[in-house]
Amino acid sequence: MNTAIIAAAGSGSRMASGRPKQFLELSGTPIIFHTLRRFEECESIDEIIVVLPAEESAGFVSAAGKFGLRKLSKVVPGGTTRADSVKRGLVSIRQATAGVVVVHDGVRPFVTVEEISETVSLADRTGAAILVARVIDTIKGIDGDSVVATLDRNQLRRALTPQCFRYDVLRKAYENVDVNDPLLTDESSLVERIGVRVSIVEGSPRNIKITSREDLVLAEALLGIGS
Ligand code: C5P
Repeated sequence: MNTAIIAAAGSGSRMASGRPKQFLELSGTPIIFHTLRRFEECESIDEIIVVLPAEESAGFVSAAGKFGLRKLSKVVPGGTTRADSVKRGLVSIRQATAGVVVVHDGVRPFVTVEEISETVSLADRTGAAILVARVIDTIKGIDGDSVVATLDRNQLRRALTPQCFRYDVLRKAYENVDVNDPLLTDESSLVERIGVRVSIVEGSPRNIKITSREDLVLAEALLGIGS
């Protein structure tokens, strides 16, 4: 049983909109439902757990009925950090039937069904796989206000989601972790720390994380040109 954990418990403070960004609308539909639709359509996913701000749960469950989300199995209240939220989703999975755990940001609605399947299938074979994108800009290492290094961009990738792991690998990676550590910005870093090799799938740069007002404008344009 492959389970998607959709992390959507952020408060959206960078958007300055009053409403968490995952609930803002793109072409009349909240971003979170665009994202969930991709996982609903993906045959590699058996169940979906959504992690939400506690106060959003009731409204979400009634709205979810309208979108025909047959795979939605649980709505779990989130924590104060992303790592905390994902851990709460993870511990709610039934161990006996657990297969690959697929962690995805609720604010990345442009992931494709093929990208999800490919990443899940690689994690099933290797234990851990994440979606990544090439780096277009030249990246500098800095110290204070000076450049100290120029990195080879051919050897760099941006970490996207989904990030997929066999259940036992991700449970082990979360053991003894301080989920309030601000440096924990993805699951791969935890899995790397326990010495498990993380494989990569090259994804599309269209899989943006909607974080700012500018991203929302870009997202409407991407929706307009289709996938
Ligand atoms: O904070 P960041 O922009 O990296 O958030 C990525 C995803 O993690 C978002 O979908 C957000 O809703 C989610 N998140 C969460 N719980 C938090 C903070 C962020 O589920 N406490």
